[in-house]
Amino acid sequence: MLLKGWTKEITRAACRPEAQTVHCIAHLDQHIGEAIPYLNAVLGGYTYVKEPPSVTFRNQGKLISVHEDHIAINALQDADEAEKILLWLQGEINAAWEKRAEITPSFQAAPRPQLMAIVKLLPKTNCKQCGQPSCLVFASLAVEGGKGADDCPALEQDQRKKLEEYLGQFHFD
Ligand code: SF4
Repeated sequence: MLLKGWTKEITRAACRPEAQTVHCIAHLDQHIGEAIPYLNAVLGGYTYVKEPPSVTFRNQGKLISVHEDHIAINALQDADEAEKILLWLQGEINAAWEKRAEITPSFQAAPRPQLMAIVKLLPKTNCKQCGQPSCLVFASLAVEGGKGADDCPALEQDQRKKLEEYLGQFHFD
């Protein structure tokens, strides 16, 4: 097992003391830099930095950055939620490291859907049935994985299938 433990530091944004969410920095007991390209290959990082290595994911509305000696997670409800995400990440990091002989490491961010490609596949009526003010806003959320074809009720079946196929090429966590 590569990553065995950590010490959590939970903070509330100093500039927004009224904020309902907290931020967590987990200081890792082991350095995991060598595992990061394998983790990136498995989870499809949103951004990747080569030196020093770090990868950032979006998961359940949170931004999670994995560095060689710490992990940062934002927009958390509390320390318990931070612990759950850290345990999940520990499993992913250790599994990627143990299976590294079978994984091609990745040193770049995963490709992302293009905003205008999504807009082209939408009805472009700005009908607001999806709860968004326009198709463009809907598309900007779809780029991040926050909306999918099923969230636009105005799509005809064949249009829905095309949008599903397009978004299906990308990895959202
Ligand atoms: S429901 Fe579909 S067509 Fe209507 S605004 Fe939302 S994305 Fe555009």
